[in-house]
Amino acid sequence: MARSQNQSPNAPGPALRPETLAVVTGRPNQAGVPLNTPINLASNFSSGNEVSNPGATTDQPRGYSRSDGTDTWVALEDAVGALEGGEAVSFASGMAAVSSIFAGLRPGSVVLVPQDCYQGVAMVVDDGEDRLGWQVRRLPTADTDAWLQAIPDADLVWLESPSNPLLEIADIPTLCEAAKKASTTCAVDNTFATPLLQQPLSLGATFSVHSATKFIGGHSDLLSGVVVSNDADALQAIRRQRTLGGATPGALESYLALRGLRTLPLRLARSQQSARILAERLSQHRLVTKVRYPGLADHPGHELATKTLGGPGAILSFETIGSAVSTDIRISRLELIQVATSLGGVETTIDRRHRLVGQEHIPPTLLRLSVGIEHVEDLWADLTQALEGVI
Ligand SMILES: *Cc1c(COP(=O)(O)O)cnc(C)c1O
Repeated sequence: MARSQNQSPNAPGPALRPETLAVVTGRPNQAGVPLNTPINLASNFSSGNEVSNPGATTDQPRGYSRSDGTDTWVALEDAVGALEGGEAVSFASGMAAVSSIFAGLRPGSVVLVPQDCYQGVAMVVDDGEDRLGWQVRRLPTADTDAWLQAIPDADLVWLESPSNPLLEIADIPTLCEAAKKASTTCAVDNTFATPLLQQPLSLGATFSVHSATKFIGGHSDLLSGVVVSNDADALQAIRRQRTLGGATPGALESYLALRGLRTLPLRLARSQQSARILAERLSQHRLVTKVRYPGLADHPGHELATKTLGGPGAILSFETIGSAVSTDIRISRLELIQVATSLGGVETTIDRRHRLVGQEHIPPTLLRLSVGIEHVEDLWADLTQALEGVI
């Protein structure tokens, strides 16, 4: 509804590149109005005190923002939608976006999820299993045959690639094709890749889902989520779920997420370049036993990643010699890199995921590194002094 109020440039001509789309989409483009869509703090809109004349207008004016949206939400949605090649619906958080899809499942549904999926998603399916009798199959991300075998009976195929935090790669095109044949909905959590490195809809997915809290926002200062699709029925169900579930995006958060998105191409390019360098150096380091990064030639998903992803991204995981305790001592020595959960910000963060409830399958010393935009040599100096401080 009312999408036309934030027109994307739709002049004929060659398709604009993502770096350009990130800047030019989601703007009012009207003479005399600000270049940026303002923070629109509306719950309700005036109906103009005119007696309505049903059937006289094609585009109903907005009445109430929970159902009709605001210009600020739509600006973010236009930009993410343009980058993903679909129509976007924004939410209060990544988990609100995720939950809007799971909310459509009936009791007894068969749900396929990766063994290594975002912890919040794992908890949603555990809950559905307990309360609603969902039949949940937890499959290894990279075991394409296991997925292909299970897909014909499934009601929802949930993929996450690269996965959090093991950086496993799913064969999205093959699995989405099988899902399509079985008339099964396929959703891809695209948070790690961002719309710049992977467009799940073009790989056959029904939904692409983002925690815009992470790379899209990019500054660790907001919660936001987005679902993108180009299936009209699926979109209608997601919009209805947002209206009734009420997990609507905040005005300030939407504004900030779009402001973050403007620089995503620059931030991601820098972070990815540094992540490559750090992954290569860490894999040569005598105290590091394993590095997981899709950009390394010895990563089991490396070849597949070169087909599905435009680049290996800005997240890597590594394991060190020693125990969980010595790993914690090492990271406590970091001076520049922030020990913190979450990821995708301008600041580099590190997290030992095994410490979290429900993450016991993660190797105890595994550290997930979200590479920010600092100078790579400063990051490397900090990492090596922290690692080498405990032998
Ligand atoms: C953070 C995250 C989510 C959840 O997003 P929130 O914005 O924290 O609600 C979902 N999927 C992945 C991969 C994430 O990293």
